[in-house]
Parts: sequence; C-alpha cells; structure tokens
Amino acid sequence: MKISVIGTGYVGLVVGTCFAESGNDVICVDVDEQKLRTLKRGESPIFEPGLTDLLKKNIEEKRLVFTSDLEVAVKKCDVIFLALPTPQAEDGSADLQHVLEVAKKIGKFMNGYKVIVNKSTVPVGTGDRVREIVSKETKQPFDVISNPEFLKEGAAVNDFMKPDRVVIGGDSPKALAIMADLYAPFVRTGNPLIQMDMHSSELTKYAANAFLATKVTFMNEVANLCEQVGADVDMVRKGMGTDPRIGMQFLFAGVGYGGSCFPKDVSALLNTSRSYECELHILNSVEDANRRQKMVLVNKMRKHYGTSLKGKSVAVWGLAFKPNTDDMREAPALTIIDALVHEGVMIRAYDPEAMEEAKRRLGKSVKYYDNNYDALKGADALVVVTEWNEFRRPDFDRIKLLMKEPVIFDGRNVYDPKIMKEKGFVYYGIGRGR
Ligand code: NAD
Repeated sequence: MKISVIGTGYVGLVVGTCFAESGNDVICVDVDEQKLRTLKRGESPIFEPGLTDLLKKNIEEKRLVFTSDLEVAVKKCDVIFLALPTPQAEDGSADLQHVLEVAKKIGKFMNGYKVIVNKSTVPVGTGDRVREIVSKETKQPFDVISNPEFLKEGAAVNDFMKPDRVVIGGDSPKALAIMADLYAPFVRTGNPLIQMDMHSSELTKYAANAFLATKVTFMNEVANLCEQVGADVDMVRKGMGTDPRIGMQFLFAGVGYGGSCFPKDVSALLNTSRSYECELHILNSVEDANRRQKMVLVNKMRKHYGTSLKGKSVAVWGLAFKPNTDDMREAPALTIIDALVHEGVMIRAYDPEAMEEAKRRLGKSVKYYDNNYDALKGADALVVVTEWNEFRRPDFDRIKLLMKEPVIFDGRNVYDPKIMKEKGFVYYGIGRGR
C-alpha cells in the first residue's frame, strides 16, 4: 500500500518506519526542515531503541522517504495517517490546530479516494470535524478513521510491531477493510483488532491513559500513607499486584507521572467531561495529587536539612520522564530542578540520553556532566529521578568517596533501604516505611 504519515515525531516516525518494514511504501511528512535533513541521512532525531536500524534499512530499500511536501504525499498515497501534535491548550483542552489545518490542506490536494486516519490523540468528535473540513474542500470520495496509538516511548517499535490490540473506529466497510489489511501483519499472533464507532475509539485512548495515570497516582498516595504508618510500599505492591484483577504493571511508586501524554490527556479528558457537564471527579483528584507528588523529594530534602536548601549542591541522576527515551516533556525532573534552583541549590545533572534536550530546556541554570559519577563530585546529596538501568547497580563505595555527604533521595525506589543503611548512606525512598 502507499501510505503517508503527516507529522514525523515520536509516533509518526515509528508508525511510518514500521509500516515500511511490513512492505508498504511510506512517505513521512514534517514541517521541521532540520528534522527532515537528519532523517534523510538515516539518523533518528529521537532516541528510541531499535528504531535507527529499521530506519536505515527501509530508507536504503527505498520504501521510506521524508519530505515537507504535503501535496505530493496526499496525491501519491491511498491512506493518510495524521500523527500531529495535540498539545494542551491554555484552558486544558487539546489544541487541535495542527490536525484541523492539515485536514484542510489534505482536502485541497485530494485527487481520488483516500482513507484519512487519525492517530493523534484527539477529543471525541474530532473525526467528525475532520470529515466536515475535508468535504468542504473536495468532491473526491474519502473516509475518516480513528486509530489511536498505544505505543510507549522507550519500547515504541516493539509495541507497534506486536500491539496488545489495534483499535479502529469508523463506519465505512471499505475503509475498515483497508485498515484490517494494513494491520494484518501486526496481529498475526491473534491479538485483537477491535473495530468500533469513531466516538468510542476516540474516547478509548483517553480512558486508557486516564486509567493508567490513576493507577500510578493511587499507588503514589498509598506510598505516602506507607511512610506515615511504617509500611513498605514495595511489599504492598507485590501483595496487591499478584491479584490478577489488579495486575503488576503500573504499580511502582515514584515522583509522579510526566511525559508527553498522561498530563495533557488527563487534562483534555477533564475538559471534555466538563463541557458535557459530566464531571470525572476521580480525575480531578488525580491531577491534583500528581502535581503534589512531583514535589515529594523536594519536601523530603527540606525536612532532612531542616533549614534552607540555599547553597547546597545536588547531583540529579535521570532527567527524561522515564527510562529509554530522551523525551523530557512534563518530566518530573523539570519540576524538581526548578524548585531546587529557585531555593538556591546548585544542580549537577546527568542523563544517559536526554542531555541535549535538558540543555535546551534548562539552559545554564544547571551544570551537566558526561557520566553519573562526575555529577557526584562534592555533592551534598544524590537525587535519583529516572530509573535508568545503569543507575541500578552503581559502585556505592565510589559514590561515597565522591560525595560531600552520603545522602540519597531515591525518587524511583531503585535501591534497597537496608543495603543503603549497611553501606552508610542516609537514604530516602518513596513509601519505604517511616
Ligand atoms: P511530536 O511532537 O513528537 O511529533 C509531532 C510532529 O509533527 C513533529 O515532528 C512536528 O514537527 C510535526 N508537525 C507539526 N505540525 C505539522 C504540520 N502542519 N505538518 C507536518 N508535520 C507537522 O508528537 P508525538 O509525541 O509523536 O505525538 C503525536 C500525537 O500522537 C499526539 O496527539 C500524541 O498525543 C499522540 N500519541 C503520542 C504518544 C507518545 O508516546 N509520544 C503515544 C500515543 C499517542
């Protein structure tokens, strides 16, 4: 099939590359010329495990091309995926300007039947708006399909190649058949391709993300209670998660959720619920609790030092919002570092992949180091914000020698409190007893 993917970011690039890998001819479109130059060289502008090899291979085999020319992409392709940003607008809703603008242009360039597939996370009714906009611009036949994306950054290629499920929303048998054909190579093992109406499909994505955000937040609140009552959240997690109705995933306590999806999707769903006067009370609390959770380490530091944090030097390990990505959108590290810098703390930061992004976002307010040990030199405390694998088994003797004081604030419960005590560290985790 001839496919175009409009928007070549974390989702569009993975989707385009994986569809090329399954034998389709794919044109990826973006407005960012620098990104396009990087991609044309066969380099990935983002860190995503396994992506670069697939990218290079499919460019070489001429199944994958990159362009800023939307007209060519629309005219040459039968299926057009929208993988455009839908960031949070000022009022908390999803900002649809990119999606709606591109829809209008697609309408103008139509030269025959097309399936326009929305992969962006969009509020219920957006597919209807896209259909309206396109039909004002063209007399050519077309269908609009909702196909929300569930990939996780850090495991995106694998998630796309072996999806738990594929959700397709729409009512045109012709378009649904094309979608089923396109996804057939990815659901061969029997994972379901679930067809539904467009509104249900659009809402499914928000409901799934909001539920996961709630699960994380619930566990964070249980962790805070563990600290008060003298319980260990890791034991509670194991005891709870082994119940198959609950499940082990997304039960790790930490410093709050971040990233490019949960915060904006929770906010957009709340916005939708309010506009229908059907308040989602739980989600209101999730948003509030998560905002507070991002500050738990800062509060622990304030309590530990008793006085002002001014003049302290703090090493921060991990800046990306989670491991295996360089994405820092809404990363808890940003909130934590902002608060500490505001209080006069000197930050010595390290992340295995997000250093460039961190420099762009945090500038000179922070000192950056090439490895995690250099960041520790003379530090009063170590703060672990992202649980990268390389932080799991460090040389604690070396850490102790490098730091001014052996104090660790572990925002991801990477270390065992007992071992930390044995090794002579003052250790603070999340929800690990009093
Ligand atoms: P992104 O910001 O990484 O990528 C979007 C790309 O679109 C950018 O490269 C940008 O330059 C490009 N773009 C903007 N306007 C354009 C235009 N007019 N024409 C062509 N290209 C244009 O965003 P993302 O993380 O890939 O997310 C895209 C959508 O997918 C969002 O709705 C998001 O909620 C959803 N989503 C994201 C993830 C994720 O993990 N990142 C997962 C599932 C769903």
